[in-house]
Amino acid sequence: MRRLRDVGEYAWIARFVRDLSSQRRGARIVVGPGDDAAVVRPGRRALLLTTDTLIENVHFRAGWVSPAALGRRAFRVSVSDLAAMGGGPTFALLAIEAPPRLAVGHLDALVRGFRAAAGASGAALVGGNLTAGSHLAITVALLGEAPGRIVTRAGGRAGDALYVTGTIGGAGLAVRRLRAGRRGRLPDPPLRLRAGRELAPFAHAMIDVSDGLVQDVGHLCRASGVAAELEAASLPLALGCRRALGEAAPTFAATAGEDYELVVAMPPRREHLAARLSPRLGCRLSRVGRLVAGPPGVRLRDAAGRVLALPRDGFDHFA
Ligand SMILES: [Mg+2]
Repeated sequence: MRRLRDVGEYAWIARFVRDLSSQRRGARIVVGPGDDAAVVRPGRRALLLTTDTLIENVHFRAGWVSPAALGRRAFRVSVSDLAAMGGGPTFALLAIEAPPRLAVGHLDALVRGFRAAAGASGAALVGGNLTAGSHLAITVALLGEAPGRIVTRAGGRAGDALYVTGTIGGAGLAVRRLRAGRRGRLPDPPLRLRAGRELAPFAHAMIDVSDGLVQDVGHLCRASGVAAELEAASLPLALGCRRALGEAAPTFAATAGEDYELVVAMPPRREHLAARLSPRLGCRLSRVGRLVAGPPGVRLRDAAGRVLALPRDGFDHFA
């Protein structure tokens, strides 16, 4: 019997998505499964749909974040997928599984944190569910819209420059420290709605970095049918990550995950716009490499051009 851990998260999803691709695409399903969010057109306007779950002892442990920060985190992790399409949220559903021993005040604070984060992004919480379970699990479904162009993972072309918003490696390092029992705080995922919206008109492809830069750029490569070359020296490393890990920081940051930054593939003729766009994004924008022709795959090179060996591509729930 083949088990999920033999197949891995991504291979299983890829097979499922292939099965669903026989589903009639038509005018009502604009982007089906396999991207950051689905795009449907039930009426005149295109709507974005995405869902995500945070589970205690998988994505976080009790005490890593305050209840309010956990609610905020659940929203931001989900909204990151809408930002990666150039969209923003309009309505949210929140389904919570909680152990009966959970303090009511804890749940109240979690939902308040979620509502405040949603409200600050222009989204209303319009429904949800509460059920008993052995651990805390938070499932979010978001409905969204895009003011302009909707960008998928699939439009990248050889020659495109790859950019990353913000910094990477900081959240991954915090998780590693917390897992090791050291004191610390899991940082809030960044909010990149504005960056996604500003970059969408000029991007060939976008994806958010949830499971590690190398792994998520790999998803973009497979969807676009290209390969990627990343430069270790160009990665925008979080200061704490650079200080703590020194020479090992680039490979760690490229594979750590939990960054929730955006990766953007921009055609060469748009590269001059990056500097001009930067001040409008609310975060830095760093050029980290290029898409190249070849079978989908990601190489990280050091300053001398040598391909760096990576311990793993990123996070897989089952592998
Ligand atoms: Mg995503």
